[in-house]
Amino acid sequence: MPKPKRGKQKKFGNLSHSDRLDENRMDDRQIVDREQLRTRSNRWRERVNEDELAREYNPADWTEYPLGTVLSMLSGHHYIRLEMTGEVIDAGVRGVLKHGIQNTTTVVAPGDRVHIEPLEDGAGSIVAIVPRKTTLSRPDPMRSHLEDVIVANVDQVIIVSSVGGPAFWPELVDRYLVFAGYYELEPLIVINKVDQAVPGELEDIRALYDEQLGYRVLFASAEKSVGVEALREAVKGHSNVIVGLSGVGKSSLLNAIQPGLNLRVQSVNETYGGEGKHTTRMTTLHPLGMGGFVADTPGIREFGLWDLTPEEVDYYFVEFRPYLGMCKFADCTHHHEPGCALLAAVEEGAIAGSRFESFQILQNETDPAHERPY
Ligand code: GDP
Ligand code: ZN
Repeated sequence: MPKPKRGKQKKFGNLSHSDRLDENRMDDRQIVDREQLRTRSNRWRERVNEDELAREYNPADWTEYPLGTVLSMLSGHHYIRLEMTGEVIDAGVRGVLKHGIQNTTTVVAPGDRVHIEPLEDGAGSIVAIVPRKTTLSRPDPMRSHLEDVIVANVDQVIIVSSVGGPAFWPELVDRYLVFAGYYELEPLIVINKVDQAVPGELEDIRALYDEQLGYRVLFASAEKSVGVEALREAVKGHSNVIVGLSGVGKSSLLNAIQPGLNLRVQSVNETYGGEGKHTTRMTTLHPLGMGGFVADTPGIREFGLWDLTPEEVDYYFVEFRPYLGMCKFADCTHHHEPGCALLAAVEEGAIAGSRFESFQILQNETDPAHERPY
């Protein structure tokens, strides 16, 4: 079977009938999956591609200029932590870096690794940007054709939920797992407040998310110092974002792994060229003593799943993947159709009902007919 062209011909769960009869269909489909996944994550990137070509990066050109990580930005100031010394300096951006940039508001973003030309008085100038490994972005709130990068180079998302109060909320965990898959970040599920668990509760969570789905699940209690060492080990050396409902104990956990490390939600008024004022919550990266960073970002709604379409949501539920393309109808929405392989799997108990419910909520939300909360 020829490989489908990227992005155009095929979607998951949308293989033609003859494809489904192909003996090697599983292998072929896995190729399709990977191709398609790359296409999706590159969709926005294609739009900013020209911009990126405008600033080609060759490390050999910049060996004289120390590397640093952008911790935060405010009104043209970039607070950069130098990798060699840990010193934080205030830098501007060399004008030439902005030339040819048309599709993004964020030439430099928090999390970017940059080369610095030191100036007098401890200030500096950003002279080159290391290409980003990951990018969490959204359409700019004021000019939606432009990319607004929230944070660059994050590689791990810590999904915090609690038991007791607030009660464990599977739909929110599933939503964050889709988010992690979509942005190609490594997820870690942390269940906090285990001191409040009722018998059997933690076992059920472990059975589904760890044993069945294969995610890493860490049980913790910030209050009773349970799981703190394991969490410290898990975040070490990574650039982490931490997400979860208010009150689940995100700040308490961070403070437990590193005293003084707290989430500070910042509101900053920024004026964009003549378009009036609006409030943005800025990202700040907090360096970790054991290496790595925790990024304090706006909520998932803001850097969320705005680019996801209803037909794609099923792919991000990992246990659905073996069934995709197996439904009777190529364009099955897994809603009510006869011969739906996913509905049958739910019926048999092979797919957890809670996961299928989360899927349906997200699928509905990503429908263009549905007004998005973001
Ligand atoms: P955040 O909004 O996610 O940052 O949550 P906080 O860290 O502010 O915690 C919310 C509340 O939960 C606070 O009153 C904490 O003292 C409490 N809390 C945090 N961790 C635990 C825990 O492990 N067990 C119990 N019982 N309470 C906790
Ligand atoms: Zn179906």
